[in-house]
Amino acid sequence: MRQNALPLGGRSAQIQRNKGEARLVWSLQGFGSEVRAMERIDVFREALRTRVCGICFDRNDDGTCGLAEGRVCALEGHLPEIVKAVESVHSFDLTPYVEGIRAQVCPSCNQDESGRCAFRENFDCSVDNFLLLVVDTIEEVKRKESLGSLG
Ligand code: SF4
Ligand code: SF4
Repeated sequence: MRQNALPLGGRSAQIQRNKGEARLVWSLQGFGSEVRAMERIDVFREALRTRVCGICFDRNDDGTCGLAEGRVCALEGHLPEIVKAVESVHSFDLTPYVEGIRAQVCPSCNQDESGRCAFRENFDCSVDNFLLLVVDTIEEVKRKESLGSLG
């Protein structure tokens, strides 16, 4: 197995390659010898929590999500689809990303058969409200992944 280190803030990340498979693994330091590995999707989740939840009106002061009990933010409930939709687009224009989310995420989220979503219409969907930041955050993680794979 080959590893490349990525210097990312107070953490370090490594691209591990095994049998042609590349996997981004985070090592969180500062806990003695404890090392916690995260799956790739968790790297996106962590970055989105920092950047998107960090400015979200629904965030509690303690950093937890303050949505009403029983409601799950699309960022949490549909993250794999969101990442996949964003990864399928390469554009400087936000419109294809909007279309990708509407086509690949919303139908399995709260959108009804007529294509309407009450949360979106009430500006109450963080993915829709902060889509530019969501896209930028996912692209930033991918850039760091790519830099690591070049090293
Ligand atoms: S609503 Fe979504 S973006 Fe806002 S704090 Fe909760 S999980 Fe984060
Ligand atoms: S716009 Fe509606 S259906 Fe689409 S991700 Fe947001 S809450 Fe889900």
